[in-house]
Amino acid sequence: MENKISVSLIQEVMEEAYETFKNNNEGANANYIPFLANVPSDLFGIAICLQSGKILKVGDTSFVFGIESVSKVPTAILILKQYGAEKVVQMIGADATGLPFNSIFAILLENDHPSTPLVNAGAIAACSMVLPAGDNKQKWDAITENIEQLCGSAPVLLEELYKSESETNFNNRAISWLLKNYNRIYDDPMSSLDLYTRQCSLGITAEQLAIMSGTIANDGINPVTGKIIFDSAYASKITSMIASVGFYQHTGDWLYESGLPAKTGVGGGVMGVYPGIFGISAFAPPLDSAGNSVKAQLAIKFIMNKLKLNIFNNDRPVITE
Ligand code: GLN
Repeated sequence: MENKISVSLIQEVMEEAYETFKNNNEGANANYIPFLANVPSDLFGIAICLQSGKILKVGDTSFVFGIESVSKVPTAILILKQYGAEKVVQMIGADATGLPFNSIFAILLENDHPSTPLVNAGAIAACSMVLPAGDNKQKWDAITENIEQLCGSAPVLLEELYKSESETNFNNRAISWLLKNYNRIYDDPMSSLDLYTRQCSLGITAEQLAIMSGTIANDGINPVTGKIIFDSAYASKITSMIASVGFYQHTGDWLYESGLPAKTGVGGGVMGVYPGIFGISAFAPPLDSAGNSVKAQLAIKFIMNKLKLNIFNNDRPVITE
């Protein structure tokens, strides 16, 4: 069956989602990173980037917020580009942990088999892999340039967030040394952690996140700039990683209810990839117990369900003007 959807209907449904959930006050801002606790809790935005490059948006889509764990996605793409799919799965893995994003237990359980670049341990290992080895300045440039290409515009470093997170990231320091213990970190542990902390402290907007998701959905070609950002072979690789672990211990429930591979961050951002159709993002700071934005989840599920979109259905939507 063909599901024909007009651009104006998508915009209408996004607005309906926004109105339905804007006054929802469940959840709480992340409080283990002091900076994030102070971001206004009522911010809320939703954006979609269509394959045509058209951007649909509603709410606070140009507010700059902490990208946090969503940054794990672009850096995973960067190491796929630098090392290829085979090496990434050997050196880190592509497995779901079923455990919280910052789990130490997951490292102990899988010490013979690293998990995925989309949880803290694998993301710190991914930062350690970024080339050129041993040169944090050039590694940082590679990380930020990659994000700039995926979004079509540059992210900004939120210095205060970086300071706040660097002063409080004791759990991540433990993770980095544990990785060293298992020979699963591939550059200096503390400088790799510093790169990770800095990438999490990048400021991004919901619109930029939608374009990044749109680039993945469009097989590596940025729909807005038209530039080829990565080899199309990596689009399905990164999307499979997002699908398997994007909501940490709630990933199965999320996929079941939304039908969309998506990745969250404790800054309140979520990016979702509908291969061949669109990239979607939503942003709202209050989080549930797994660190996933409450309103972003509600909004994306509402849009997917209302438009009868689900990557596991066999009716491909056709978006018409
Ligand atoms: N920088 C955060 C951390 O490492 C990111 C966590 C997240 O967004 N889930 O704890």
